Amino acid sequence: MTISRIELGGASVDASVDRTIQLVQAGQAEGSTCSPDLAAGPWEFDAGPLGYGPGSSMGDVIPVGSPRQGELPAAYRTASADELDARIRAAKETLGERVVILGHFYQRDEVIAYANFVGDSFQLANAAKAKPDAEAIIFCGVHFMAETADLLSRPEQAVILPNLAAGCSMADMADIDSVQECWEQLEALYGTEPDADGRVPVIPVTYMNSSAALKGFCGEHGGIVCTSSNAETVLAWAFERGQRVLFFPDQHLGRNTAKAMGVPLEQMPMWNPRKALGGSSAADLLDARVILWHGFCSVHRRFTVDQIAQARVEHPGVRVIVHPECPMAVVDAADEYGSTDYITKAIAAAPAGSTFAIGTEINLVQRLAAEYPQHTIFCLDPVICPCSTMYRIHPGYLAWVLEALVGSAERPAEVLNRITVSDDVAAPARVALERMLAARPPASGGGSASVTAPAPVPVASFVGA
Ligand code: SF4
Repeated sequence: MTISRIELGGASVDASVDRTIQLVQAGQAEGSTCSPDLAAGPWEFDAGPLGYGPGSSMGDVIPVGSPRQGELPAAYRTASADELDARIRAAKETLGERVVILGHFYQRDEVIAYANFVGDSFQLANAAKAKPDAEAIIFCGVHFMAETADLLSRPEQAVILPNLAAGCSMADMADIDSVQECWEQLEALYGTEPDADGRVPVIPVTYMNSSAALKGFCGEHGGIVCTSSNAETVLAWAFERGQRVLFFPDQHLGRNTAKAMGVPLEQMPMWNPRKALGGSSAADLLDARVILWHGFCSVHRRFTVDQIAQARVEHPGVRVIVHPECPMAVVDAADEYGSTDYITKAIAAAPAGSTFAIGTEINLVQRLAAEYPQHTIFCLDPVICPCSTMYRIHPGYLAWVLEALVGSAERPAEVLNRITVSDDVAAPARVALERMLAARPPASGGGSASVTAPAPVPVASFVGA
């Protein structure tokens, strides 16, 4: 397992993000966290009615219909880290090739230690395909990622989310009912007839970070899915077919991408689902090129222009790279912006001795810092605040679902926490994904990236043995 280093008692010691949080909360290390509750076991929050978990997403409200995690058996809540490690390794050994464990870049190191592949959501969904004989795919990420893996895996394969409470607050900001209601209002305003060039009034584009229902909506309505790696190519695809785009759920990715393509800000009205016409005027919507859904990532929203200014003062020559889920002012103030894949490749390609200030989730930043000791790499946000939904997956849940797959003399083997997308949603959702895979950057060279998924990273080459 790769872990980072912190200052403790005047010495530099190894520490994962979780270990650092524990030490900070115990007063044994310097630093601050966005919530003291981060140090508690995630099971403390499974029955909670309000937030997504301790940290930056706590203030976001979980939709009523979101899956809830039941009580984790006491044996897993009270087990020591060493005991869980032994149980997970034994279960993995028993299951062998029958199971594949996928770990998202933002997942905590204590879980990444057992992953067969590490990557972003789309890389990992494709990694599942690389193991067609695995009976179970354990997705250590969040709910929409497990849904995408289910869409792309064989029907016989069970996709398992170790903690059902690991949702994504951004994905949940656009639900299918609100999007359908928005669509009806836009159709009433625009009509449905194409213009003289054959372009329909509006094309729906959903970010990968959305429910399968929204991917299915896009498939049914001539729309498409995008990732943070290919958003520009996908928007160009949509502009060839539509007069304007309805982009959900992340306003920042939509705004940052469209702005880079030359779309004026005044032609990007916001759609707030709680307001009539989304809170915009009919005139603004008629003039729109991109209608931005009122969604955001609570983790990437924490990054600020002031943090970048501070980094430049403290580290002259620093290279600032932020994720496109960050607000526009932060992207504008950075040296570069790009997906997690872009960030990891930029660091890998840099000359030794480079200094990076990174604006993305801290587990990935700390892991990159440990992976590339020849560089200085730090997170722009000085406060330790991981993706609190991803953080709900703890080794205790991983041990629980693995041992259930193994079974015992007293308890038959069973699949827990299976994520299944219904056939009526899956078929159109796959259409939207296939359109994305078929899209190509415009011949003019306007696209910024290939739309084929970068290869997932086998864990051995990313985090070491
Ligand atoms: S980092 Fe943000 S967008 Fe990604 S899973 Fe967490 S809440 Fe969702």
